[in-house]
Amino acid sequence: MITPRVAGHAARLPSAGLPAYVYDLAALDAHAREVRAALPERVELYYAAKANPAPGILTALAPHVTGYEVSSGGELAHVRAAVPGAPLAFGGPGKTEEELRLALSLGTERFHVESAGELRLLAALAGERPGGAPVDVLLRVNLPAADGELSGAALAMGGRPGPFGLDPADAEACLPLPPGGPLRLRGVHAHLASGLDAPAQLAVAGRVVRWARALADRHGLPLDEVNTGGGMAVDYARPEARFDWAAYGAGLAALAAAHPGLTLRVEPGRSLTAHCGWYVTEVLDLKHSHGEAFAILRGGTHHLRTPAAKGHDQPFTVLPAEEWARPWPRPAALAEPVTLTGQLCTPKDTLARRVPVERLRVGDRVAFAMAGAYAWNISHHDFLMHPNPTFHFLS
Ligand SMILES: *Cc1c(COP(=O)(O)O)cnc(C)c1O
Repeated sequence: MITPRVAGHAARLPSAGLPAYVYDLAALDAHAREVRAALPERVELYYAAKANPAPGILTALAPHVTGYEVSSGGELAHVRAAVPGAPLAFGGPGKTEEELRLALSLGTERFHVESAGELRLLAALAGERPGGAPVDVLLRVNLPAADGELSGAALAMGGRPGPFGLDPADAEACLPLPPGGPLRLRGVHAHLASGLDAPAQLAVAGRVVRWARALADRHGLPLDEVNTGGGMAVDYARPEARFDWAAYGAGLAALAAAHPGLTLRVEPGRSLTAHCGWYVTEVLDLKHSHGEAFAILRGGTHHLRTPAAKGHDQPFTVLPAEEWARPWPRPAALAEPVTLTGQLCTPKDTLARRVPVERLRVGDRVAFAMAGAYAWNISHHDFLMHPNPTFHFLS
């Protein structure tokens, strides 16, 4: 599960360079190429930058994506600078006036409008630009979930009461947007859940498209675009598994064929980048506590918060280091379950619990997989003031 390139790099890093985030950009390139190839031509692929906005990641994805979905003014400016000229879709709740002004000034291609209030604010700000071209918007809707549809989801953003998007009736009440006004309605956006497999994603996409079509027909409006969001499943318990892009692409092709002239757009984050990153560190201490083995690692969940945030065991590979220069015996866990923790003074700083290992010794290196998305950038780096990791983008 660890690529040879990353394993080699991880073994060569000096201890002082640990912990380290190591990204395999060649593997990311190959994966993104496969994803793009599995999707029909009429489906646009946007990358949700919040999953991992590192410039090296954004530029590695550039040949394969149509654009980027950004969720704040910060991401907007950052992605514009990292990949100039790439189309941006600006989503997310609670957009401020400053952020909307920034987005307008940077020529953001799509605004995903989250509420009637935001629509009014955007229209007012867009209307202040003399002679400006109309601003293209999608209304983000929170459709009620069909029975059981989101039951497999890791996180539900919609299908129930929540801060995201407009209720169907509220979206409808926004229509039609004033003709000749500063905003032009291009269609609908929905991102209802994260962690859905291909059949569940397709069921949701079909329902969103049918709802959007019916809405447009009721108002005699064209429907150019439907963005069905991200949330393609990533299974941390099965690091080798991948979302079934082939089945998903085939299903989207059928959906596209049933709606000629409609552009479908998807905006995955995690499923594009999770597998291309590793968090590499070393065992500082190893002990048995009331009969159980604990390995204390350099770093911890302040660098890799993912297992604490999601409550899983982060999958890992042990990279044995043979050198042992100390004059005392090397502490080890042998053929037993080990709990891997970090250096923080909290029991929440646990990366994996009671995972059986053949052998783990002080000084061995550990490479945590699936650390390419929602990993470093969601972590609370400053807690306890340990040094930051080093970063390596292998191309
Ligand atoms: C977070 C988010 C995504 C990406 O979700 P993943 O689970 O990373 O694929 C896409 N669209 C919106 C609106 C989001 O908030």
